[in-house]
Amino acid sequence: MTKDAIVVGAGPVGLMLAGELRLGGADVAVYEKLPAPSGESRGVGFTRRAAEIFDQRRLLERFGEVEWAQGHFGGVRIDFGKLDDNHFSVRGIPQFQTEEILETWLRELGVVVHRNHEITGYRQTADEVTVQFEGPDGPGEETARYLVGCDGARSLVRSLAGIDFPGWGATRGMYMADVVGSGVRPRPIGERVDGGMVMAFDLQNGVDRIVIHDENLRPHEDRSKLRFTEIADAWQRMTGESIHQAEVRWISSFTDTTRQASAYRAGRVFLAGDAAHIHMPAGAQGMSVGVQDAANLGWKLAADIAGWAPEGLLDTYHSERHPVGRMLMRNTRAQTRLYLSGEEMEPLREVMGELVHIPAVARHLAGMVSGLDVRYDMGGATHPLAGLRLSPDLVLRRAGDGPVRVAELLHAGRPVLIAAGSGTVDNETLRPADGWADRIDVAVGTWDDTAAVGDTSLPEAVLLRPDGYVAWAAPSSDSLPEALERWFGRPRSAIAAA
Ligand SMILES: Cc1cc2nc3c(=O)[nH]c(=O)nc-3n(C[C@H](O)[C@H](O)[C@H](O)COP(=O)(O)OP(=O)(O)OC[C@H]3O[C@@H](n4cnc5c(N)ncnc54)[C@H](O)[C@@H]3O)c2cc1C
Repeated sequence: MTKDAIVVGAGPVGLMLAGELRLGGADVAVYEKLPAPSGESRGVGFTRRAAEIFDQRRLLERFGEVEWAQGHFGGVRIDFGKLDDNHFSVRGIPQFQTEEILETWLRELGVVVHRNHEITGYRQTADEVTVQFEGPDGPGEETARYLVGCDGARSLVRSLAGIDFPGWGATRGMYMADVVGSGVRPRPIGERVDGGMVMAFDLQNGVDRIVIHDENLRPHEDRSKLRFTEIADAWQRMTGESIHQAEVRWISSFTDTTRQASAYRAGRVFLAGDAAHIHMPAGAQGMSVGVQDAANLGWKLAADIAGWAPEGLLDTYHSERHPVGRMLMRNTRAQTRLYLSGEEMEPLREVMGELVHIPAVARHLAGMVSGLDVRYDMGGATHPLAGLRLSPDLVLRRAGDGPVRVAELLHAGRPVLIAAGSGTVDNETLRPADGWADRIDVAVGTWDDTAAVGDTSLPEAVLLRPDGYVAWAAPSSDSLPEALERWFGRPRSAIAAA
């Protein structure tokens, strides 16, 4: 039987996307070539916006008590505590834990992850995509309406789709080791030393992550040849401390290679996560931006599959997320230069250190690394909040039902119309939403937090997309029905008549 969607890759992005698709009602399967989760700690946290995305799907609470981290831009510390909005990221969560949480969620939603199944090719027609795979019982095929490549930096889906991956090759290498018993003092945002940069911080359960940039070490051609002694020797050379005695859990190396897919869509095939963009890990952004790709694409693809997507909705995935990927490349390249260049960068680091005390500069840089600065084009919606995410921490007091956080209103993954008016937004304004009652939820109450969002007071009516972005808010020069139709298709009556 034809599936609605096939997702290639059970990394964090593929898992998140499959969950989003399922929440939207799609029949989805995930294909993963590894027989079991890799257990790699790679990512060690996620940005504020990724935390909010997890919160919007009731996933953040599964991480338990998390540690909120201060920010920096290329090693220049930014005092998040002094900013109006909450930009704190989550740290100390190894990537395998995030993947475990997402895979458990998928099991609960009834999505099957076909492990030990490597996608080897696909063909696409005007209506469907058929993938070929190599599984434990030999080769096979499966057909779906859509295919999404979440298959990482070396994406086969991307190359079969003929999508270019332009950018910049490696110029610098970084080395890392997760070790127990190193005895080194923490250097959580890194420390410049003669000949490079060293970093050390706690992961979990007594494991420390050691990271080194040694200006004299070239990027490793073949990661499998890397030995811990090479890392320990460099650490000793740069700090005078020996970590040779430490027990090694995992070693790896990475580079500043930076590339972005020229298109995120080719017909019925889409790309998300590392398949779409790679860069130097800086500020916990790679997986975080990928998870946001998934939150952006998931509801749109599910809407198309369910039959209510307005024309052009699927193309907004590229038009909204490609610019975000471009800015990600820019900020990580800037941070890499600032962070890893030698003494010649010192004057600029000092100037930046002064600039971040200017609140507007701190806000600008914080928004860039936390992901809170993303603003999508919402067409005719002219309210100052249109296109921005609405803070999931805002509380709506509902008569009878009690207080609810915006994050909770989004748990079901459906669009939400919030009516928090005390007069100017009346029933007449909201009544048109009845036509979309099969697709959108309505929450009525008053804002608990009378504080403004930045310089803007909270709107009396706000229409949220399932990914938490403001599609429309009152007052606006366009009407609510225009916004509803732009994002959520025609009203029931029009669909029924057609
Ligand atoms: C040292 C380091 C530290 C990092 N720290 C952070 C951090 O703190 N925070 C953060 O947000 N990001 C961080 N990142 C980036 C993060 O690890 C990646 O951005 C993230 O893994 C991307 O997720 P993904 O699902 O797109 O791809 P991947 O995690 O690469 O998953 C792709 C999956 O696809 C599978 N696959 C590939 N080809 C096929 C095929 N043909 N058939 C079937 N399956 C296939 C692979 O086996 C894999 O499981 C870090 C990266 C590194 C290297």
